[in-house]
This record gives sequence, structure tokens and C-alpha cells, in this order.
Amino acid sequence: MSQRIKAIRGMNDILPKDSTVWQFLEGRARQLLNQYGYGEIRMPIVEYTDLFKRSIGEVTDIVEKEMYTFEDRNGESLTLRPEGTAGCVRAGEEHGLLYNQVQRLWYTGPMFRYEKPQKGRYRQFHQIGVETFGIATPDIDAELIILTARLWRELGIADHVTLQLNSLGSNAARANYRAALVDYLTQHRAQLDEDSQRRLESNPLRVLDSKDHGTQAILKDAPNLLDYLDEESREHFQQLQALLTAAGVAFDINPRLVRGLDYYCKTVFEWVTHSLGAQGTVCAGGRYDGLVEQLGGKATPAVGFAMGMERLVLLLDVAGAVKHLSPAPDVYVVSEDASAALLLSENLRSQVPALKVLCHCGGGKFKKQMKRADDVGARFALILGESEIQNRQVSIKFLREAREQITLDQTQLKTFFADSASA
Ligand code: ATP
Ligand code: MG
Repeated sequence: MSQRIKAIRGMNDILPKDSTVWQFLEGRARQLLNQYGYGEIRMPIVEYTDLFKRSIGEVTDIVEKEMYTFEDRNGESLTLRPEGTAGCVRAGEEHGLLYNQVQRLWYTGPMFRYEKPQKGRYRQFHQIGVETFGIATPDIDAELIILTARLWRELGIADHVTLQLNSLGSNAARANYRAALVDYLTQHRAQLDEDSQRRLESNPLRVLDSKDHGTQAILKDAPNLLDYLDEESREHFQQLQALLTAAGVAFDINPRLVRGLDYYCKTVFEWVTHSLGAQGTVCAGGRYDGLVEQLGGKATPAVGFAMGMERLVLLLDVAGAVKHLSPAPDVYVVSEDASAALLLSENLRSQVPALKVLCHCGGGKFKKQMKRADDVGARFALILGESEIQNRQVSIKFLREAREQITLDQTQLKTFFADSASA
């Protein structure tokens, strides 16, 4: 026997029993983004490697060690997208959407990072990303955050997430801060963990992210990013806080929140949960006013975020927010006359579009068909025996209630299901 081929580690199948939760999440998000007037953009999953190197930054975790990069048959270096912002900016530039315009865009799909697979961290994962272009004022930063807060409420997970907020300031302010931080950390170099020692040279702000206890202790007395903010960024940050407060969105300021990517400036934020263990960030974003120019376009202010769908799906489950979702059909149609069964099912789908109707296929006796109806979790079995067919009737067996079977004229089905839906 030949050996079975398995899925790649860290890349998951999503089975029908779980995809109902995904559809719920995607459906709510789609509806909400539409309500806010955001337009969907769909980009390729593969881009030139340089796009990610130039946007995310050469010395970030993603570019240093997480990208799926390969040569195509022309010898060109391509990469499976590790995130969506770079491709979105590339597409926006390429189609003239960005310069001197306001754009509110969103996308969804798989992202790829070569990470150590664990709960909430995979090699193929999915994001919904939202990007806005052409607005420099903090009202749009606030809108994005208010939008996510509404989404959490609609999904039923608002009690499980909190908002962390920070400002990275202008490039110049960040450079000043970086110098001060390097200065301080160099004095304590020996007490830093190995990763942080390396980052001290390559990407010192990332040291603030370190989970190492020794490094954490050193960081307690490190210079504070917020003390280095330039006047404009300080003002922007204060206005953002005022807008959020007025909108009733609570937040915690976390001066150590720096985010992993190079392109952020001013606002950065994360929605975090304690309900999922270590992989607690379900949504993260910030402002990236310099990126469009960095990728060859005209200077364009921009701010966006991405949410991790796998983590949200896990959270929906933990929060008990998806108990009402069931892949079970409402109705299972049972008959030894396949033609009659198909026909009744069709009529029912036309008359009551909201109903999930499963028509038994594959033959077999009534008893076996009834067992199927029960196994799939249907609420009603609709039975078409010889006498029902002759009299244009149908019998209804209540599979989840202690109720006597009834027989109706087929013309009464629509009313019956209208009533049972409201019951
Ligand atoms: P982390 O610190 O958890 O590695 P990140 O800063 O690398 O996250 P972003 O690039 O900001 O993540 O991506 C936005 C969101 O996408 C994250 O907050 C998270 O919810 C999700 N995400 C990122 N990487 C993964 C992954 N490997 N598996 C599952 N979800 C992920
Ligand atoms: Mg990461």
C-alpha cells in the first residue's frame, strides 16, 4: 500500500462542522465593513519578494525567518504573502487608487509565515485586513477602532477583548528614542536574553516586545517612548484618545507596544484577550504614513489593521458565542420514491427559502432513512409514503420534540414552517 500524503504542518483543513463558525465571522465582518462604506479588494496570494523586503523591513522577524520564498520557472524570487498591507499598497498604486484620494479598503484570505505551529499560530492562517488611504487626521484612526469594537459586540466577544494603544511618533522622534533606548540597553547588555541582544543591533524597538523575565526587568527603567513624541504626534495621539473616549471605547495605553513591522508611525493598537493563552492578540494595526512613498508612490497617509481569523474562531468558541450555529438541517425528506422526494424538496426550498432542506439520496427502506434523519440532527422528518403521495399530503415527524406525528396537505407546508419558525 502506498503511503498516505498528509497536509503540511501548520496548514489546516477547515471542515464543515467548523466552517459554520468561519462563515458567521466572515459574514458579520463583511456586512459591517459594507455598512461603514469600505470596498473589498482582492489581491494575488503571491508577490515579488522585494515587495515584502522593502515594506515590512529586512530586519523584521517576518522577512528574516518567516517567509515562504521560492524561485519560479523564470528564476524570479516570489513569496507567498505573509500579510496583506504590502500587496494592498502595491495594488492601490498600480491602479491609481491612492494619490490624492480617500480610499477605505478591506480584504480577506490566507497568509503564510514559517513559524512554529501551536494553538493560535499556524503557517497558513487567515486575516481580514482593512486599510485606509489619504486621511492624516486621527478621526480615521478612531473610526477603524470604533468599527472593530462594534464587530466584537456583534460577534458576542466584547467582554473578552481589551484595547491597547500607543503612539510611535514621527520617524525622527522614533530615531531619537531608538538612540536613547540603545544607549540604555547597551549598559545592561549582559542581562538581556539572546534574541534581545541580537535585536539591539538590528531592530532595538523589538526588544520592548521581549517576553524574557530578565529583559523585562531591565525594561522597567528604560526610557519611555511617549516622552520622545514630537509635538504633532502627541497632538494626534491626544485627539485620538479624546475621540475614542467620546465614542465610549475604553483603552489602555501601553508605551511598550511597538508592533513587529517597520512601517508603522504614530498610532499603533492591538486588541488582546486573556482567553486564549499566549497567542492573545486577535487584531492589530496602526498608521503607516511613510509606506506608500517607500514603495515608490507619492506620500500618502494611511492607517489599517488586520485581524487573525483563527484566533477569533477560537475566541468565539471559548466565549460560547457560537452555540446557536448548527450545521444540522431543519428538514430531512424521507421517501422510497426518489422523484417525489426531490420534487417536494424543490417546492419547499422555493416556498421557504430560509429553510435548510436535506433530501435523502441513496435509496434504502424508510427505517434506514429515518435513522439518517435523526443522525444528521434534523428537526423535522418529512415523510412521503404511498398514501401521502396519492393524496398530495406529507407527514411530519418531530425528531427533537415529544409531539405526535401529523399529516398535512402539501399546500399547508409553507404556513406550517412560517409558524414553526416563529415558535
Ligand atoms: P504575533 O505577535 O502573535 O506573532 P504579529 O504581530 O506577527 O502577531 P500581525 O502581523 O500584526 O501579527 O498580524 C495581525 C494578526 O494576525 C495578529 O494579531 C494575529 O491575530 C494574526 N496572526 C499573525 N500571525 C499569525 C499566525 N502565524 N497564525 C495565526 N494568526 C496569526
Ligand atoms: Mg508574528
